[in-house]
Amino acid sequence: MAEQISAVPASAAPGEAPASAARIGPASPADIEALSALLVETVANNGSVGFMHPLPLDEARAFWRGALEAVARGERVVLCAWQDGQLLATGSLALVQAPSQPHRAELTKVMTAPAARGRGVGAALVQALEQAARERGRRLLTLDASLIEGATAFYRRLGYHTAGDIPEYAYKPLGGLGATRILWKLLDAREPARTLPVDPAADERYMRQALALAERAEKEYDEIPVGAVVVSAGGEVIGEGWNRNIADHDPSAHAEIMALRQAGRALANHRLVGATLYVTLEPCAMCAMALVHARVARVVYGAADPKTGACGSVFDVIGDPRHNHRVLVQGGVLGEEAGRRLTNYFRAKRGKPPV
Ligand SMILES: [Zn+2]
Repeated sequence: MAEQISAVPASAAPGEAPASAARIGPASPADIEALSALLVETVANNGSVGFMHPLPLDEARAFWRGALEAVARGERVVLCAWQDGQLLATGSLALVQAPSQPHRAELTKVMTAPAARGRGVGAALVQALEQAARERGRRLLTLDASLIEGATAFYRRLGYHTAGDIPEYAYKPLGGLGATRILWKLLDAREPARTLPVDPAADERYMRQALALAERAEKEYDEIPVGAVVVSAGGEVIGEGWNRNIADHDPSAHAEIMALRQAGRALANHRLVGATLYVTLEPCAMCAMALVHARVARVVYGAADPKTGACGSVFDVIGDPRHNHRVLVQGGVLGEEAGRRLTNYFRAKRGKPPV
């Protein structure tokens, strides 16, 4: 099956045989006993999966029989993670049947055996469920996770967004109403990224050039020291820019925008297909969007910007799966030097010595 994914536990020794890794695949009727035991154990441990403790084994079996019937009808996906004959984890996708939501599935009944936790099995299972959703044309995944169990942090790490919290949502298996968090994730339906050959020495060379432009912005124009260089698919520098907001009375005159404008004129084209932009500071939302519009292949930046960075630091404009163009991103190239230059610029403004 295409859904077979191997999850190597983080604690696995290097070179350990792949046979010892978890094997993830669709559940079959032969798995009902193991699935039922895991469900009963999860409920006994106060796990919020829709049941109250004590859950009779027969009820658990009836639940899984029903779930596998839904699988047979094409309404559900149930995956299991196995290792050495032990069921480590399970998770399901309920394929929403509403005609208005042919693109949505609910992630549900995700359970990991206590002994298997902290080994990456749960994450591998959710990723396998996401792949199963993609194969069935489901792009939007939704789920509710109890706020008490710390599951929400797990889903946040896997890229799920919080829609909101609902108090008194459901009874915990051992009693007492618990709040829940509604989470969602829009899967990336685009073609997988093509990897570009990357030459670290060239990256550093072009970043040095961008740093020299940043220095010019500061020394010659007293602008914030940010510099940018656009290199064409053929390896030619076709655009250079530095911050010109103050001199040009132009709120859009960021280094990236200036470099993109020059590159567009050089190519006589508003699309810079295959080009790489080097910039000393992580692009803001405006510049990130301009890079997407320009169809730039790759952006390399120096220092991360914890205030307005839009390549993941504050926003992830560049990586948003709703774009139809994908820009590869690499940060931290000569980042310390670029960051120090900016820090010292602002320190000097406040009459402080450089660091
Ligand atoms: Zn910008």
